Amino acid sequence: MSFEDLKLAAPLLKAVAELGYTQPTPIQTKAIPHALTGADVLGCAQTGTGKTAAFALPILHRLMEIPAAAPGKIRVLVLSPTRELAAQIDESFRAYGRYTGLRFAVIFGGVNQNPQTDSLRKGVDVLVATPGRLLDLIEQRFVDLSGVQFLVLDEADRMLDMGFILDIRRIVALVPKARQTLFFSATMPPEIRRLADTILSRPVNVEAAPPATTAEKVNQSLYYVGGREKSILLAHLLSTLKYSRVLVFVKTKHGADRAVKQMRRWGISAEAIHGDKTQGARTRALENFKSLKTRILIATDIAARGLDIDDISHVINYDIPHEAETYVHRIGRTGRAGASGEAISFCSVEDFGSLSDIQRLVGRKIPELKANDPAYLERLQHPDRGVTPLPDLDEASEPVHAHRSRGARGQRARDRGPRRQRDARGHDSRDRDSRDRDFRDRGRDREAAPPSAPSDGGDRSEPLDRESAYESASLDFFKPQRPESSPRARAKAKALPPVKPAQGLPRRSQG
Ligand code: AMP
Repeated sequence: MSFEDLKLAAPLLKAVAELGYTQPTPIQTKAIPHALTGADVLGCAQTGTGKTAAFALPILHRLMEIPAAAPGKIRVLVLSPTRELAAQIDESFRAYGRYTGLRFAVIFGGVNQNPQTDSLRKGVDVLVATPGRLLDLIEQRFVDLSGVQFLVLDEADRMLDMGFILDIRRIVALVPKARQTLFFSATMPPEIRRLADTILSRPVNVEAAPPATTAEKVNQSLYYVGGREKSILLAHLLSTLKYSRVLVFVKTKHGADRAVKQMRRWGISAEAIHGDKTQGARTRALENFKSLKTRILIATDIAARGLDIDDISHVINYDIPHEAETYVHRIGRTGRAGASGEAISFCSVEDFGSLSDIQRLVGRKIPELKANDPAYLERLQHPDRGVTPLPDLDEASEPVHAHRSRGARGQRARDRGPRRQRDARGHDSRDRDSRDRDFRDRGRDREAAPPSAPSDGGDRSEPLDRESAYESASLDFFKPQRPESSPRARAKAKALPPVKPAQGLPRRSQG
């Protein structure tokens, strides 16, 4: 089947042809014909399957076909769990819709809202948003959802995992009932089905096979290694392997920072990327990795989501993930664009259960490598011998909460950020984004990767340049937040109408 067979409008066919798409992916073939009829769609598909075009193309087609319900108002709302995914979806809409004359905007938290509100003021047809910032801007009356005709929930399972369920329900309550809804999730556990039942009306179910074949393109191996030896084995591999870029996955933010510190102590230049870093520090670490200034990036699963770099020669699972699908997604970061890739996992005793799940999913036993190289054994005896430490990274890559001291309870309290204060109207004084972080971080330093972590199948060309997509979104928005108490912010707040919850907006529950 071709895109022409799908009977998409000419401006869309022109755009996909320019992007080099020759034929629709399976999820596109399945979803687009139904979505074009106006039916609700419940899609089970992961990132990497082409699911963005599966909802974006029919929506763009229908936007041109049917009149706006309320001229001048937002017609499409796409909800995304993370800012990185939001930026990517926005970029895809722009690419597919470049000949439609439609207007696009993306909003997400953690960055200055002014460029976002500026673009909203100019008028938007398609808005991609993360839930927290969207609710903030709704409360500030920058966003009006009363004209929405198309609602998309992308990576719904991840949104639930990140604690956005109440936010989603509040947002959906503000969108007109007469709409078309497209709901995508990588997995369909019962709570996702329940959520879908309440949001969708007689949906058509479509499904795309997970890109588990990715695993076949990657040379996989593992070391059985005790927890204490992991860092030394990592240092040994990073000193002996031939690599272009190495992406090291760890399970906690703290673990990522610790590994970077250890590598630098042993003269190996590495940077960390995780959810506790400032947006600026994350952007810098990514740019350094892209430009090869840093060849080793140590990441948690969630933070690695925004990463779309082809030339990663090695993925190292410093910690084996609990979810077998996450393993497949992680190793799919290497061996892309026709290149061969290596995935090396460190397996300690507590990982045995996860390892057998992984081996079942990838359908093979992962060959074991023995850590008995004399250089490694020597390093094990004398980790600090003959190395020239690198200085600790400067403030640029410090975690957000730079004032941390040790101690698990204190750590969790600091993760929660400043104590909540309510203003006269009973609103939480911290910005919603930091409250969103609370939801995500509550009770866990672990950024357990939900199974929908992206994995772009290495067998497909990727004409849409995600790196520049991410960057162009970043350039607009990744500006430092101005403190809310600045004179300019206060003057602005005065000029705004008083904040009162929008009609029908139930109070946000706090956890
Ligand atoms: P997604 O699952 O939407 O994140 O898409 C994964 C990647 O596949 C993106 O880089 C898209 O640009 C690319 N892609 C989507 N549809 C097609 C297609 N029909 N042909 C080739 N590449 C595609």
